Amino acid sequence: MPRPLLKVNEIFYSLQGEGPNTGMAAVFLRLAGCSMNCPFCDTKYAAAQGQEMTDGDIVSALEQYPCRNVIITGGEPTEQDFAPLARTLKQRGWTVHMESNGAQDADVSDIDFLVVSPKKHVHENMLKKAHAIKIVVGQETDLTEIEKYFPYANAHTAVCLQPESNKQENIDLCVKLIKQHPFLRLSLQTHKLANIR
Ligand code: SF4
Repeated sequence: MPRPLLKVNEIFYSLQGEGPNTGMAAVFLRLAGCSMNCPFCDTKYAAAQGQEMTDGDIVSALEQYPCRNVIITGGEPTEQDFAPLARTLKQRGWTVHMESNGAQDADVSDIDFLVVSPKKHVHENMLKKAHAIKIVVGQETDLTEIEKYFPYANAHTAVCLQPESNKQENIDLCVKLIKQHPFLRLSLQTHKLANIR
């Protein structure tokens, strides 16, 4: 049976705004669909809207830009069969990044840089495979709950606290936590500060 086409919400060229690769030029491939339905989700528009595309059409759309970093994001990319496309992109010389909620243990063997941002539940294998774990922190965050991610911080994996919606009170809370646990890092949504996508 042929593999289903990938449902794509949007493809655009910008800079990585968050996490350890902040400031890196990249083409974003936003896949449609996410079953998590987080209340603070800032890409709710990607939950349903999408256009089915072949891998070839996606590669052509990506390769119109003068950059060979791709960030596969969503929605939640692991809810679709992204792995064959990731392999094709790697074979064509792309550096392949992916952002995932880590809820399911996906084949990320062709992902060069995996960022997992845990939400209601996360698969432990994805935490182990992540190059960065990005934890959204707001005033309602259960701080004892997020501490369970701290032991994953090591030379391979950066554990970043990201203030929800760039709110000052959330930034203050993250800074305080990072000073208490200096192996953590701050991740600001710099694309919002820079007023870019
Ligand atoms: S997991 Fe991410 S994409 Fe999915 S609803 Fe939550 S914030 Fe949005």
